[in-house]
Amino acid sequence: MTILTNNVLTIDNSALELITTCPRKAYFSLIRRRRIEAEQPALRFGGHIHSALAYRYKREAMLKPWSEEKQLTILERRFVATPCIDEGWRNLGMAQKVIQHYNEQHLLEPFDVLRGGSNNLPLVERPFALYMGKIGETSIVYTGRIDTIVKDIEGVFVMDHKTTSVMGPTYWQTTNMSEQQRGYCYACKESLGFEPTGYITNVLATRAPTKTGTSIEFARQRFYTKVPPGQLDEWRDNMLAQVDVFLYYHNKSIYPAHHYHCVHKFGVCEFYSVCEMPKDARESVLMSPAFKENTWSPLYHN
Ligand code: SF4
Repeated sequence: MTILTNNVLTIDNSALELITTCPRKAYFSLIRRRRIEAEQPALRFGGHIHSALAYRYKREAMLKPWSEEKQLTILERRFVATPCIDEGWRNLGMAQKVIQHYNEQHLLEPFDVLRGGSNNLPLVERPFALYMGKIGETSIVYTGRIDTIVKDIEGVFVMDHKTTSVMGPTYWQTTNMSEQQRGYCYACKESLGFEPTGYITNVLATRAPTKTGTSIEFARQRFYTKVPPGQLDEWRDNMLAQVDVFLYYHNKSIYPAHHYHCVHKFGVCEFYSVCEMPKDARESVLMSPAFKENTWSPLYHN
């Protein structure tokens, strides 16, 4: 299923990134629904860490005890269920170490994890789907999943957990401009009925172990979206403008290749092996066993 069916375009943050990075990549991923067959260790590692954190924060929201032992078991089960031949240092042992260190540093949180919605459930791993209006005949639905919503002395914040191996000086500048986080603040306002003060980025940075040991570092920073006002409306207008451009390409069945993004600091684009082929040979590579169906959605990933 493509993201565009029956004149409804379902778009999430990763789709927005794709359509603004390289429309051809967006075509392969979102319209043709293909993704590389090989497991991506960084995504797998980050996803499993998220699960261990979600368990803890759900329990905290319900004022129930949680245990580190249970978190480690969650990690073990998930790593076993998703074997990855080339996991490298992003393995179960490292994930368990990250969670243990994280709990040491953040044992007592300076915030409450909120509950809400019609069922008063913990606002943890909270999926949403918002109707954003129409572009021409196409209805736009924005979807996503908010990691956690918390409240502290400064107000309510959307909290996003980020696992990374790169946390240089520009990391916070990138986070400051994050479309994803403003989108989640918008979603909080529209789907839960209250506008958050802003968002907190909760970073769990892990680098490849060296001779001198393992490098695990944690950092948090908050960003304000309620004041000055208008930031969320500006995000919505900007998002719809980006989607409008992609629909223009889609309606013409022309998806420009943005070659600047073929090679980046982490390696090459997952569709590099397709685009490097002569035009007539690309389809067979895209449909080869090197790629599989892209079924990912923020609404039902686990
Ligand atoms: S290899 Fe380059 S042109 Fe092809 S999809 Fe990726 S970024 Fe776009």
